[in-house]
Amino acid sequence: MQEINQNLAKHLKQQRQQKNWSLDRTASETGVSKAMLGQIERGESSPTITTLWKIASGFNISLSSLIEPPTASSDATVIPLVLAQHKYLANDNAPVPPIFPYDPRFGFEMFEFILDAGVERLSEAHRPGVTEHVVVISGTIQLLINDEWLTLTQGEAIRFAADQPHGYRNSTDHAAVFHNIIHYGQTAADTPHAD
Ligand code: MN
Repeated sequence: MQEINQNLAKHLKQQRQQKNWSLDRTASETGVSKAMLGQIERGESSPTITTLWKIASGFNISLSSLIEPPTASSDATVIPLVLAQHKYLANDNAPVPPIFPYDPRFGFEMFEFILDAGVERLSEAHRPGVTEHVVVISGTIQLLINDEWLTLTQGEAIRFAADQPHGYRNSTDHAAVFHNIIHYGQTAADTPHAD
């Protein structure tokens, strides 16, 4: 968490400098208060995933590029077999680090999530063109897509437009694991487009 906050502070400052945005401008572009932005830049806040998405959308960048250290320039990136990182999706909207962080060459980021029994996590619409690909690795989950909860069990997969509100929940009494590949669409996330 500490590392995420530090990366976040760094990336937020960097993004503001690149765009030459004041805190006021950043607040109006992202919908996140100036006070909160200041706290994040000082590494004093653990923002919710909802806040992170607002910031990412405001800057038109991927979620993981906000929280990850810069990727290596090498084409082959070896991911440690044992990821000493938590992957639990929680009700409190705490962010989860990606397995593959966003890389503009590939246009996606990939997460492995653990959804504990009884957990429900709702997500606001991501920016236009964002598509999610969910693959259930173990257990059974439900996805809220187009105002309807769909049940997916181990081995099942679905692709859906994530530029609308959606959600994930586990109504069973066993933890479930799923992979989520978030694709940022034809407008690369690092390519600025007209606001
Ligand atoms: Mn989502």
